[in-house]
Amino acid sequence: DALVTTDAARTYAMDRAHVFHSWVAQDLITPLVITAAQGSYVWDGDGRRLLDLSSQLVNTNIGHQHPKVVAAIQEQAGRLCTVAPQHANDQRSEAARLIAELAPDGMEKVFFTNGGAEAIENAVRMARLHTGRVKVLAQYRSYHGGTSTAINLTGDPRRWANDYGSAGVVHFFGPFLYRSAFHATTEQEECERALEHLEHLIRFEGPDTIAAIVLESIPGTAGIMVPPPGYLRGVREICDRYGIIYIADEVMAGFGRTGAWFAFEHFDVVPDLITFAKGVNSGYVPLGGVVISEEIAATFGTRAYPGGLTYSGHPLACSAAVATIGAMHDEGIVENAARLGETVLGPGLRALAEKHPSIGEVRGLGVFWALDLVSDRETKEPVAPYGGTSPVMRELVAACLAGGVLPFTNYHRLHVVPPCTATPEELAEGLAVLDAALDVVDAAVSA
Ligand code: PLP
Repeated sequence: DALVTTDAARTYAMDRAHVFHSWVAQDLITPLVITAAQGSYVWDGDGRRLLDLSSQLVNTNIGHQHPKVVAAIQEQAGRLCTVAPQHANDQRSEAARLIAELAPDGMEKVFFTNGGAEAIENAVRMARLHTGRVKVLAQYRSYHGGTSTAINLTGDPRRWANDYGSAGVVHFFGPFLYRSAFHATTEQEECERALEHLEHLIRFEGPDTIAAIVLESIPGTAGIMVPPPGYLRGVREICDRYGIIYIADEVMAGFGRTGAWFAFEHFDVVPDLITFAKGVNSGYVPLGGVVISEEIAATFGTRAYPGGLTYSGHPLACSAAVATIGAMHDEGIVENAARLGETVLGPGLRALAEKHPSIGEVRGLGVFWALDLVSDRETKEPVAPYGGTSPVMRELVAACLAGGVLPFTNYHRLHVVPPCTATPEELAEGLAVLDAALDVVDAAVSA
């Protein structure tokens, strides 16, 4: 009961009166009031407990209100709330050291931002200045953030209204066998053809004009498409061949989500720049950043880096990162995410696919899974259009909430992205709710 506040109606009324929300038509939404959260659960305005299979925006990798992180923020708040970026600070130094320790050898420096989009903006700026080139390549079916360069790089309908065509961005198709752009029938074909497509595009765009390739190691919001073995290594080789910087966007996939500290570790590659945010401190205080190779860092050894932020390396955010990374090490949280993928979510979701004809494909690893929902397994017709929603997707969300699960959906997909700290029992409870909710989708598509 202590987790329930009684003024949810007022919260909702003031939200509708004064809060301008992201990405939506303001008059067409009914935001869910969240009053409290603990571990894998949140509580809504009616005091109902919901299992958080969204991790909010796929960021609460250590669950809600982890006591060690809450204590670290409280302690830091009592000691030193803020300090300008030009000074040195113990929490910032330690967070940078810990992040560099997790990154591949030869990546020792960290530039801190307030979130993922700013990390992308700065990684691209570094790559452009380092190479003296302007163009940047990014995938269709990607999300890189809501600021101007990041949204231009994004390969998602949210870019369309923000696209002024001036950012030097060129998009290409990544590997995605289930909805192959290359008429491939095997993972190997998909991999080879996707790499061939990328290299062709580079030759025709002019290799000497291209500063960087930005790609999510495993595209997240766009559908959790795990790349086939060899794809990222192929991208690395192409980058080396043409002097292009490889930026790995690990904002969503990083910090444990895939059962590894960074998702590129599954593919045996080393990028030149790594962007991170979200899981670095589970979003308890906004934080993101760029991990920088020695070579790129050296470009700015005696030449000024022309970028900065008032809150770069904010002590509250960095203290949360230090405590988060410490807790993840001490409690085996990354290993837990890997185990949950192998023993609970993978088998559990594949079992749901056997039962529910509306599941076209199950994809993912760790605590990073997507169900591709279709009205017909043969044609793979999505249950909602690209960039839109549909009555059946709204019914699915309603059924999840009615069953006590807070879901993450995007267009025609349901993503199953709980905290890395979830227990097998919690996830079994969640899978049972999804099982019942998917009956609604089956019924609608067979009607
Ligand atoms: N990159 C990826 C892969 C993301 O998933 C996101 C956010 O979802 C971003 C960048 C942008 O991060 P932020 O919303 O913190 O600016």
